[in-house]
Amino acid sequence: MVGVSNSMAADVVVIGGGPVGLLCAIALKAAGIDVLLIAPQPRDDHRTTALLAGSVTALTTLGVWESCRTHAAPLVSIRIVDATRRLVRAPEVMFHAEEIGLDAFGFNIENRHLIAALAARAAALQVARVEAAAQAVTSDSAGVTVALADGVVRARLAIGADGARSLCRAAAGISSDRHAYPQSALTLNLAHDRPHGNGATEFHTEHGPLTLVPLPGERSSVVCVLDPATADALSLISDAELAAEIERRACSLLGKMRAEPGRGLYALATETAHSFARARIALVGEAAHVVPPIGAQGLNLGLRDAATLAEIVADARRQKADVGATDILERYDRQRRADATTRRIAVDVLNRTLLTDFLPVQSARGLSLFLLDRIGPLRRALMREGVTPGAAQPRLMRGEPV
Ligand SMILES: Cc1cc2nc3c(=O)[nH]c(=O)nc-3n(C[C@H](O)[C@H](O)[C@H](O)COP(=O)(O)OP(=O)(O)OC[C@H]3O[C@@H](n4cnc5c(N)ncnc54)[C@H](O)[C@@H]3O)c2cc1C
Repeated sequence: MVGVSNSMAADVVVIGGGPVGLLCAIALKAAGIDVLLIAPQPRDDHRTTALLAGSVTALTTLGVWESCRTHAAPLVSIRIVDATRRLVRAPEVMFHAEEIGLDAFGFNIENRHLIAALAARAAALQVARVEAAAQAVTSDSAGVTVALADGVVRARLAIGADGARSLCRAAAGISSDRHAYPQSALTLNLAHDRPHGNGATEFHTEHGPLTLVPLPGERSSVVCVLDPATADALSLISDAELAAEIERRACSLLGKMRAEPGRGLYALATETAHSFARARIALVGEAAHVVPPIGAQGLNLGLRDAATLAEIVADARRQKADVGATDILERYDRQRRADATTRRIAVDVLNRTLLTDFLPVQSARGLSLFLLDRIGPLRRALMREGVTPGAAQPRLMRGEPV
């Protein structure tokens, strides 16, 4: 950690020390960029993330995955169960990673372990870090100034990795489209009596999915999407009552359950910034886009932002260009918009088909799952797109250095 003498300078400042900001700072440092990370210690995060293949490759390439490996469980199958009580119910569908030639779709890891591994790697690479929050960000034609409580930092480019309520997004004058869903996600981790066999299960209900994702040992993480009143009520009951409730909702699939400490409650929304970069400020992760926790897309998208931006900045620096110039920011926006938009639409459509009582939509959803169950090439195409997007992957996600 570095202290702030009244004024500091770097080529690039990354603001925010969540997983996306940390990965971005590491990737830039690994490419030889003069980078400063402005990041207070993050709050305890007991959520887990299903890291898909490209994210795991990027973490491996940057020397982070080694420290994650023992904390992560492979995800070899995904089962979807229609647990609605509607007239038209979909058949159960099972996806296996081996059908698309993979050992696993990805790995599930607790965010606290992922963040610790990233922070340790950043420290090992001597990424300069100021453990403080940015108070204000202003840009001019020559650079960007970040005000801290006890000084200022000047850089060519500021990367806003400061989450959904991004100060950087506001500072860049970028507005966003936000849609709140009538749903909340309750999260917790559980130990259970029966093995999960490294398979995830999604029970689709009228209020959203209940998803059980494997953790190492006989443990799983739970994301339970509910109407807000029920989610609030469940968040207040005792550990034993909550474990029994999840066991009931999961039809005792994993036997008796015991809740681990640390629950989370998240209001569900989708939000997309109108631009991902402007006025020497580029947005990554939830500062740029928020998607509901359905289909494990949010952080995987954010890591692709970080890897793409690091690559564009590194290329610009090799050509001795200004890393905060407008054409660099426009290139980043162009390269990330399609991926972020497609994922948002896919998650939104999936979520809305669960929520609707409109019979034709329920029928269409049932038919889609029926076709997915029966038609191999369709299943495999969907699985491949879910794990590795068709859009061009940044070098890090292909196992190449930045
Ligand atoms: C219930 C749930 C389950 C999820 N599961 C998955 C999953 O399985 N797979 C997946 O891909 N995604 C998942 N997601 C999405 C994922 O959690 C987010 O995409 C991810 O946390 C976003 O990371 P981030 O680094 O962009 O933002 P954050 O994690 O929000 O980090 C932002 C950081 O910026 C810091 N900050 C804020 N303001 C300032 C400031 N002014 N100065 C300095 N620092 C600042 C904060 O302290 C914080 O540390 C899930 C989300 C939820 C709600």
